[in-house]
Amino acid sequence: MPKPGFKSITVSEHVYDKFFKSYGRNKKGLELKGIRSFSGYLTSMMEEMTLRYETFAIHSPYMEKLSVDQNRVVLDNKRNRIAEVILKEGELQCLLDEKSDCVHVGFAYSLPELYNMDHKIKAPPHSAYGDTN
Ligand SMILES: [Zn+2]
Repeated sequence: MPKPGFKSITVSEHVYDKFFKSYGRNKKGLELKGIRSFSGYLTSMMEEMTLRYETFAIHSPYMEKLSVDQNRVVLDNKRNRIAEVILKEGELQCLLDEKSDCVHVGFAYSLPELYNMDHKIKAPPHSAYGDTN
């Protein structure tokens, strides 16, 4: 039984193992952040996620992903105009704002496709400004 003020949940072994491994890999860095246990790690992850969702709940109703190709995310931010976010030297940049920390970039970071894209981008640069089909 968890101590007062705490609740326990049950997750599949697969999920547990996955997170436990990533906890193990990041242990040193986490300790620097004051995270010294696996449950502390999960708590901090959930808090971070919640924060992210809340941020996107504010901005994302106005944003829609139009397309994701090799190094580019095209967003329609409705109230305004189309925003294009490109991946350049491992960093996302918004062509509309000419910034790397605007809401479009933030939104692009939340797209899972981006991480596949990032993987691709490590290939030779000829693929960087490739064809859009
Ligand atoms: Zn922008």
